[in-house]
Amino acid sequence: MMLNGELLIGAQRQRGGAQAFQAIDPQQDRALDPLFYEADASQIDAACQLATGAFTVYSSLDLRQRARFLRQIGKNILALGDALIERAMQETALPRGRIEGERGRTIGQLNMFADVVENGAFQGVIIENALPNRKPLPRPDLRQRQVALGPVAVFGASNFPLAFSVAGGDTASALAAGCPVVVKAHPAHPGTSELVAGAVAEAVAQCELPEGVFSLLHGVSAQSGSALVKHPAICAVGFTGSRTGGLALLKLAQQRPVPIPLYAEMSSINPLLLLPAALQQRAASLAQGFVDSLTLGCGQFCTNPGIVFALDGADFDRFVQHACEAVRQKPSATMLTPAIAQACAQHAAALAALSGVQHLMYGQEKTGANQGQPQLLSVSAHDFINEPRMQNEVFGPVSLLVRCASQAELRAALRALQGQLTITLHLDAQDQPLAAELLPLLEQRAGRILANGFPTGVDVGYAMVHGGPFPATSDARTTSVGAAAIQRFLRPVCYQDLPAALLPPSVQH
Ligand code: NAP
Repeated sequence: MMLNGELLIGAQRQRGGAQAFQAIDPQQDRALDPLFYEADASQIDAACQLATGAFTVYSSLDLRQRARFLRQIGKNILALGDALIERAMQETALPRGRIEGERGRTIGQLNMFADVVENGAFQGVIIENALPNRKPLPRPDLRQRQVALGPVAVFGASNFPLAFSVAGGDTASALAAGCPVVVKAHPAHPGTSELVAGAVAEAVAQCELPEGVFSLLHGVSAQSGSALVKHPAICAVGFTGSRTGGLALLKLAQQRPVPIPLYAEMSSINPLLLLPAALQQRAASLAQGFVDSLTLGCGQFCTNPGIVFALDGADFDRFVQHACEAVRQKPSATMLTPAIAQACAQHAAALAALSGVQHLMYGQEKTGANQGQPQLLSVSAHDFINEPRMQNEVFGPVSLLVRCASQAELRAALRALQGQLTITLHLDAQDQPLAAELLPLLEQRAGRILANGFPTGVDVGYAMVHGGPFPATSDARTTSVGAAAIQRFLRPVCYQDLPAALLPPSVQH
């Protein structure tokens, strides 16, 4: 399958502006063909104008047609076959099984949102019939429904080249809501992005939708992403990436003449809490499960367990000993990009240099370019509480073990925690009173609370929350995974005393 290095401005394939770049194969450390070109200002404007032009027709489309469109995107992605899998593997160094699994998840998400659209409940219809005889004042006829916000900009994530990229969760939920989408492709996997964008554009044509429903822009500098967020046509933004990038774009979104919501999923260290009875019963298996989760995908998950809390003592010592042994056996592995590998090493070194942090164990030596090396560090809860920089995400297979001198110190450490995507409790029956006491605090700190599992692996369903208080995300009220993600791109409208003939069908009865 040919890659041309082109943007998609609606149905039109175009070469971008002057700024050229190439994808890097991080395993071989070499540039991949073809050349891609960053979108210039006029192309960003054209994509956004087309999206505005498509909005009225697309947002008022019959819901069955909208659902058919989402399912068609999934079919077209599958039809790309092995060419997509191989290009994604080359651009990310992720193994075949992972990429194939991610393709399944991407198609599954599109199909789930098709079901959500067909079901119609997302429109949140509320009807309050008029009460003309109500005293002291009559009540008018009030009908509410959720409507689409308008064109949405989506920033593809580097660590999910399919499931959180061009046709990933943000795009699927925005399209499901009735919003045209302009994607800023992640520059680490432009070829994968071009292939998937072709599949989406084909579905737009097959379903006879206005071409502006979907566009793909390439970009390799802050310029193109910033221009997209600032464009007056854009009504909301979905972003997954670094805290620096998310906050820079959030500032732009808020400083526009017309501010817009920006849903950024940024950074989380996903604490594990090993409660005393569980730790006593199964220190060895907990250590193995933790290290397997920590090193999965070279730690490049937003749900990676980057910190562990437990009460100090002989049971925790056994856990540490087993965890160190498990880490010692884990190989270094190629990371998604040279910059991410570099950042992992730098951020791990910065963590190790903080006062009170002890280095415990490295995984096996690096054997190739752009690899991340597993690493365990430890610190006392006292030092942890006094140093907020210990909470900075190290994106990679690196975790900090925090020894708490008492339950009171454990509580204090949890109170000092910043917002998280997940917090995991490991507990036995005897731990339940302590867990029950901690639960209200954990609810304040995280979007998802797990028991006796590991946070890596996010099920895509109706009850899932992949969100949480800042800095995990820029808006704790929402989720970027699961059916509820559609709510980010909707807003309520109330119709008061409108003649029946003017009411949208969903609020007529
Ligand atoms: P990133 O640097 O935040 O980039 C994500 C996207 O945002 C890219 O398309 C990037 O475009 C754009 N962007 C970033 N800063 C921008 C700015 N100031 N103005 C306009 N656009 C901007 O994330 P990344 O490249 O995926 O990974 C870098 C680091 O992010 C990792 O080392 C890790 O720490 C973190 N990360 C976290 C998660 C998570 O789920 N928590 C996931 C992935 C990465 P350009 O590159 O073209 O500027």
